[in-house]
Amino acid sequence: MEYQYWNPEIEKMPRPRLEALQLEKLKTEIGYALRTSFYAPRLGAAGIKSPDDIRSLDDLRRIPFTTKHDLREGFPWGFLSVPKEEIVRLHASSGTTGIPTTIYFDSEDLRRWAGYVARCIYGTGCSKSDVFQNMITYGLFTGGLGFNMGGEEVGMLVIPSGSGNTARQLRLMRDFGTTVVHATPSFLLHVESKMREAGVKRESLALKRAFAGAEPYSEDTRRRIERLLNIDVYNSYGISEMNGPGVAFECQCKNGLHLWEDGYIAEIINPDTLEPVREGETGELVLTILCRRATPMLRYRTRDLTGFYTEPCACGRTHRRLRRIAGRSDDMLIINGVNGFPSQIEEVLMAIKEVGNNYLIVVEKEGVLDRLTVKTEVGPDSFTDDARPLNALRERIRTTLQASISISPRVELHEPGTLPVSEGKAVRVKDTRPKDA
Ligand code: AMP
Ligand code: ZN
Repeated sequence: MEYQYWNPEIEKMPRPRLEALQLEKLKTEIGYALRTSFYAPRLGAAGIKSPDDIRSLDDLRRIPFTTKHDLREGFPWGFLSVPKEEIVRLHASSGTTGIPTTIYFDSEDLRRWAGYVARCIYGTGCSKSDVFQNMITYGLFTGGLGFNMGGEEVGMLVIPSGSGNTARQLRLMRDFGTTVVHATPSFLLHVESKMREAGVKRESLALKRAFAGAEPYSEDTRRRIERLLNIDVYNSYGISEMNGPGVAFECQCKNGLHLWEDGYIAEIINPDTLEPVREGETGELVLTILCRRATPMLRYRTRDLTGFYTEPCACGRTHRRLRRIAGRSDDMLIINGVNGFPSQIEEVLMAIKEVGNNYLIVVEKEGVLDRLTVKTEVGPDSFTDDARPLNALRERIRTTLQASISISPRVELHEPGTLPVSEGKAVRVKDTRPKDA
């Protein structure tokens, strides 16, 4: 396969040079951090009073982790390293955990960010002749403007359609010959359901590929979207504390997400002991940004669970690849004492072809016990008025789930298109248990 690179020198840089570049950029970031009211005393306490106190990448480990809690403590200006008049934009996290965190950019920060997103987009084979419909939330969420800038940087025609309004999305795709889309995986599945409902033929669209991210999804979901829409789907990982999109992305090999190590230093730690895991093992991803001046962020604990592939990628890029992110450590469900991740349930559901494109996990208290209900839509071809095949399907889903998560769920089947669809990140779990019980 012919691979294309946005910046071949950086993307294929031999590791020793890449690490030397990281060290140089880390020192620059330390210089910025020393200008913030949050990091100056922290770094001082760790004996780091100037960038020259960092002599090797190992010195990073002298710096304490930064947590979401710290971001809240430092809100609103504790992490700002430049005079306010130099910042030109702010973004804020989607706040699924209810804690406001704000990141500021100066104009060079924005330009660099656009470059990383462009690198991701271009690496999947896009070019300036593509038409790119960005079907994700704009506004404070970084996915909208982040991909918008990256698409423009590549030179594609960008349609800033935002999320939701499926009928209009389909109309735009047809009118302008959209070839590439960006959306959450759940929204892509929803679009496909609506296409069928509205009788929109796949052949009437010019779609070739999709970037899917912002929420966890399994390999089976990727394959389902690829099969149903007949496109290539690339996994996109980003987090607002690290700018947003442009942190890690799949190349044309579609086997793990290259984390751009000239822009970020990644560590994988055991979330309990806080020690690094062995290369290749799963743990919590910790990131240090190397490409932003206005808001430095050192050793940020993402809560995302993943690990690195150890073999090099066939595409020739030297930046290491992350495994698909299965979820956050705080997503874990504990049901009657048994631990499980929503992603395990999703994996089971999406591998069953009679299952439809949407599902919802409900956890309730029933007396003293927890009760797990998995509500799932049935695919349009499998939905029938006859109870027997549906009962058999329900039982099959239940036993497969039980084998995977060691919890016996109640399974409810729903007609296609009847479960709620969220415009932003999908809300997959409804946990109504009292919080402190
Ligand atoms: P936000 O800061 O609102 O952009 O949310 C970032 C979070 O979304 C990450 O920490 C992940 O938990 C999740 N996320 C983003 N992209 C992906 C992806 N490709 N796979 C799994 N989770 C993702
Ligand atoms: Zn690759």
